[in-house]
Amino acid sequence: MSDITQFNYPTPIRFGAGVVSELPQQLETLGSKRPLLVTDKILAQLPIGLALRETLEQSAFESAVFSEIWGNPVISQVEQGLAAFREHQADAIVAMGGGASLDVAKIIALMAHHPGSVLDYEDGNPNQKPVENLIPPIIAIPTTAGTGSEVGRAAVVSDDASHRKAILFHPRLLPAMVLLDPELTLGLPAGVTAATGMDALSHLSEAFLVDGYHPMADGISLEGIRLISKSLKACVDFSAAGTGNTAEHIEARGLMLTASMMGAVAFQKGLGVTHSCAHSLSTVCDLHHGLANGIMLPFTLGFNRAACNEKFARMSVAAGADGTAQGFFDWLNDLRTAIGIPSNLREAGVEPGHFEDLVAFALKDSCHLENPVPVSEADFRSLFKDALGS
Ligand SMILES: [Zn+2]
Repeated sequence: MSDITQFNYPTPIRFGAGVVSELPQQLETLGSKRPLLVTDKILAQLPIGLALRETLEQSAFESAVFSEIWGNPVISQVEQGLAAFREHQADAIVAMGGGASLDVAKIIALMAHHPGSVLDYEDGNPNQKPVENLIPPIIAIPTTAGTGSEVGRAAVVSDDASHRKAILFHPRLLPAMVLLDPELTLGLPAGVTAATGMDALSHLSEAFLVDGYHPMADGISLEGIRLISKSLKACVDFSAAGTGNTAEHIEARGLMLTASMMGAVAFQKGLGVTHSCAHSLSTVCDLHHGLANGIMLPFTLGFNRAACNEKFARMSVAAGADGTAQGFFDWLNDLRTAIGIPSNLREAGVEPGHFEDLVAFALKDSCHLENPVPVSEADFRSLFKDALGS
């Protein structure tokens, strides 16, 4: 086992290869006796999911499993998970998986001891119910390196019928403990590694570009970009080559898992136009969130370039490029090509017929309100027109 380290920023994080084996002692520290493992359908049957279940079954805890999560998470999955939580009389949640599993787990925790329906607690609901009761502790174990949901205070879930995304936000949705174990991400396919990695890069870049005084978030953004420059292409190459449990692979996965977590810490400062485009592409075309960000990044960051030239120069240094804004964009384009991100939306299956809806949904999304340059409807039209390619 490699060295394991701990830092609390903002969440206590245990990091290192094999750290997931500490789960029983972490549950004990939290005083849990009846944990509920919340994970997705596929992961529950993969070796890493089965191993975690076995760890729990062989421990002194009375554990149960809820694994009915798949695709983009919807409210009915939360309701099923909530029923499982109550039936088991659980006292803590172990959330394992990608962003979807972690988000569903957080909402199950919020709803466990609160009345009403999920949407009663939606952020921005004029009749939003107060979060005033106990939220059971969550131990988050991410198995992808992209969303960083393990250190976020928000959770996203869609309405089953309308597919509208609802955001729930509360400081106490922060997991009580995060176990960042790079070994859990060794088996991620190359395409998923690339797409989720671009999500992390978009969080770090957008957070850095947002106006406002937040030197801590800025420092985290730049270091996260540096870690991605050192590891994302390597992770994708290792994955494509079928490299298993080697020291180099584990090290690269560890850097990406760290960068992903740092992206979500940094974007407490804000996001921007890239995420409005990505949210629209997921809603209208069901495009993977990370892939959507990865395709849009050169266009959306290019839109901000003139206003943020000095910041792009600093991002260029962080990425190991030549210290000019142009150097950063060259690095970004080379990285995208090297890890197989399509150069335009059409290559990812988006059709010109989607254009009007894409513009309308992106305009309605709130992320672009924080963008360093105001984004008009005409701007979205030109961004999507360019990104569709010819
Ligand atoms: Zn994102």
